[in-house]
Amino acid sequence: MRKPIIVGNWKMNKTPSEAEAFMKEMDAYLTGEEAADYGIGAPYVDLDVCVRNAKHLIVAAENCNEKDSGAYTGEVSVPMLKEVGITYCIIGHSERRTYYNETDAACAAKCKRLFADNIVPILCIGETEAEYDAGKTNDVIKSQLAGSLAGLTAEEVGAMVIAYEPIWAIGTGKSADETTAENCCKLVRDTVKDLYDEATAEAVRIQYGGSVKPTNIKSYMACPDIDGALIGGASLKVDSFKEIVDATK
Ligand code: PGA
Repeated sequence: MRKPIIVGNWKMNKTPSEAEAFMKEMDAYLTGEEAADYGIGAPYVDLDVCVRNAKHLIVAAENCNEKDSGAYTGEVSVPMLKEVGITYCIIGHSERRTYYNETDAACAAKCKRLFADNIVPILCIGETEAEYDAGKTNDVIKSQLAGSLAGLTAEEVGAMVIAYEPIWAIGTGKSADETTAENCCKLVRDTVKDLYDEATAEAVRIQYGGSVKPTNIKSYMACPDIDGALIGGASLKVDSFKEIVDATK
C-alpha cells in the first residue's frame, strides 16, 4: 500500500518569521496518526525554522545543487540540507525548468545526489499548454521521465515521489479534470514499469499538481494512480492547508 503524500510548495513566499508562524499552527493541527504524509516545500532561508517547528510535517527544500561544495555562488548543496534536517527535496519544478534552464540531465544528477544522503526527491514533470494542445503530453511525460530518472536504481525510483504537473494548470485555477490527471499519472506509472519493473512502478508515489484546492483534492485522491498532491497557492494559508488535511486524512 502506498501512503498518500501531500506537499505544499511555497515557492518564493514567506519570510522566516512567517514560515515559523505557519509551521507552529499547522504542525499542532496534526497528530502524526494521519493516513497520509503532509509536508511543506520552503525557501532555503526558511528551512531551519521550519524543521525546528515540525514534529509531524515533512519539510522539503525546493531545489539543491548536485555538487558537494565549491565555487558555485548562490547555490546550496545536499550536505547543507542534510545538516539542517531536510528529508525531501522538490526537483525540476516547471518554474525551475522554465526560468533557470534546468534540464532532465540536471534533475537526474540532483536526484542521484539526494539519494546519497537519504533525502527523497519529489521530481516534477509535465507538459506546456502548447504541447498539450498539440497532443504531445504522453511523449513529453515519457521523455522527461527517461531523462530525469537516468542513472537511478530501481530501489531509488521506488522510494521517490514523482509529481505530474501540467504547466497549463499551475497557478492558473484551471486544474486538469480527474480523468486527465489519472490518465497522466497512470502513464507515469506505466513508464516507470517500462523503464524498471512492476514492483518499482507499484512502489513509486505519484502526485498530481496544478491548481489543487480544498474543494477538488478529494476527487484526485480517489483516483487509483494518484497518491497525493503538490500544492502551490492553496498551501500558503494555514486555513486552506488545514482544509486540505481535513479532506484527506
Ligand atoms: P498551484 O501550484 O497549486 O498554485 O497551481 C502547483 C505547483 O506549482 O506545484
